[in-house]
Amino acid sequence: MHAKKVPALYIVKNRNNGYVDRSILEELPVPFKVVASNILIVEEFVQQGILCDAEFDAESAECRWCKYKKNCIPDVKPNSPAQEIELSEAAINWRTGQTLVTNGKELVDSARDVFQNHAAGMPEHKFLYKVCQ
Ligand code: SF4
Repeated sequence: MHAKKVPALYIVKNRNNGYVDRSILEELPVPFKVVASNILIVEEFVQQGILCDAEFDAESAECRWCKYKKNCIPDVKPNSPAQEIELSEAAINWRTGQTLVTNGKELVDSARDVFQNHAAGMPEHKFLYKVCQ
């Protein structure tokens, strides 16, 4: 493997979606020795049959899309009874709120139609501009 000369054409294909990223490297992003030594570290772990130390980062795109994340996501702590109650109440509030929002929109739309028709029937179209907003 030789990757020491620049400029070089660097092509990476995303196997998940087929996207191909092409760029011209004017300088090496990292010395090739660093890349080779990282690969050796991984190979040593593989030969020992253990996973490399890795820290899951929920904010990183690599970790979010990684198909091996179940191996390094920290265990989730079980909820305390107080948290369970709080979550249940929040779920009830959420559903109630969503129903109220939907019903509220229907009420507002229905009232708007009535106001609009009434305002349009008045000779000077008084209030019509306010109802249509
Ligand atoms: S989720 Fe994947 S990318 Fe992230 S630390 Fe674990 S193995 Fe590495």
